Amino acid sequence: MRWLDEPYHRLRPRLGREVTLSELVDAALARIESREPKVRAFLAVTGDQARTQARAWSARLAAGEPAPPLLGMTMALKDNLCTRGIPTTCGSRMLARFVPPYDATVTARLAEAGAILVGKTNLDEFAMGSSTENSAFGPSHNPWDQAYAPGGSSGGSAVAVAAREAMAALGSDTGGSVRLPAALCGAVGLKPTYGRVSRYGLVAFASSLDQVGPITRDVTDCALVLNVIAGRDELDSTSAEASVPDFTRALAGGVAGLRIGLPAEFFGPGLDAAVKSSVLAAVRSLEAAGARVQDVSLPAVEYALPTYCLIACAEVSSNLARYDGVAYGHRAAGAKDLYTLCARTREEGFGAEAKRRIMLGTFALSAGHYEGFYRKAQQVRTLLRGDFERAFAEVDVIAGPVAPTPGFRLGEKTADPLQMYLIDTYTIPANLAGLPAISVPCGFAAGLPIGLQLIARAFDEATLLRAAFAVEQAVPPLPEPPL
Ligand code: GLN
Repeated sequence: MRWLDEPYHRLRPRLGREVTLSELVDAALARIESREPKVRAFLAVTGDQARTQARAWSARLAAGEPAPPLLGMTMALKDNLCTRGIPTTCGSRMLARFVPPYDATVTARLAEAGAILVGKTNLDEFAMGSSTENSAFGPSHNPWDQAYAPGGSSGGSAVAVAAREAMAALGSDTGGSVRLPAALCGAVGLKPTYGRVSRYGLVAFASSLDQVGPITRDVTDCALVLNVIAGRDELDSTSAEASVPDFTRALAGGVAGLRIGLPAEFFGPGLDAAVKSSVLAAVRSLEAAGARVQDVSLPAVEYALPTYCLIACAEVSSNLARYDGVAYGHRAAGAKDLYTLCARTREEGFGAEAKRRIMLGTFALSAGHYEGFYRKAQQVRTLLRGDFERAFAEVDVIAGPVAPTPGFRLGEKTADPLQMYLIDTYTIPANLAGLPAISVPCGFAAGLPIGLQLIARAFDEATLLRAAFAVEQAVPPLPEPPL
């Protein structure tokens, strides 16, 4: 149905007049059924709940309730966001049968805002990965070419949006997991400022880095979703008090006078030529719209990837200690004592990447190595924050690529974890510095989308979205994916 091919904000004024909520949900479910065999975005489709929600909203509106801001937005949630009564697997055997007794705050806020959950999406196990190939339940496929990876770890969420199975989705971004799959699938993906969005009910990966963010068809829909999920939550002590503006109001302001910084470190030898020229063309289009472009320098970016690996793995070693076969999740059968129960549960429940990171992180935190690894990494993180502070004294937005290449085939990088980690080179700095960053489609190479990354000052998502909107206006829109 053609409604599903429109961004939500264009459909919204016609909702209830030209199409009912129930018709829309039925169409979305039919679309999912027809496309899933090709793309495998979902781990679970919540058809019954979606139909019930649609009917419930229709009744509430008929009774005179005002229409909420995301009424009828069909929504997919990454399967590390808790959904009450609906399995939340984290793409892991460990949680294959885990059914949360509560909703994540973002889940609840979206439901209150009228969004309709259509399913839970595939991810790399516990969000560790860049391709969805670390999922215990098999990979998702890029809608532009099914032999290609969708990126990760929120690959299923990006695929669901790009394949037009859902109007919007949420992912989580610890080192690029919202921005990378959005870029490789041709969607908009935003990692908000650390603390902007509640993480209550997000299954923890690396707690000093994790943020929840929207993946949408365009920048306007991104702003609409951020409006609903942003803001202080008493249930998450790391969520910030910062006031939440209406992010849609900033969009059309234009970029006249906006200062854009290009860090040399984002355009070095590892960058594919097609990505580079497409990213620079997008920056030139901002210049043509009145922005001023200048060079900036982020020298510590060179060390961002090893720094991230140490910090993220150390936090994984701590956060994943809870999966011991006792309270919830997988429990190995027949163990005679506590040690065996824990060891066997973890051996059986975790995949190779989770085990690799737990071991690396435990080593980095151990007595005798802590100073040289973990502490050192925290010091480099401080240097990187300083680099960004100096850059943002001169510019309002930093621009660069999201990923070093337009995309890669499924299986191409699975044998070499280092190659897989290198994909995150440009996305990780914003996580380490806690800054908001967005991926917006800026071009197309050999049939695959390319993403431009923009990074802004902490809590300045409004400027970020305004610049991304200007890019969206300037570059030709992507065609429909060939599905
Ligand atoms: N690809 C990165 C990793 O493997 C980032 C993952 C993420 O952001 N969740 O850790």
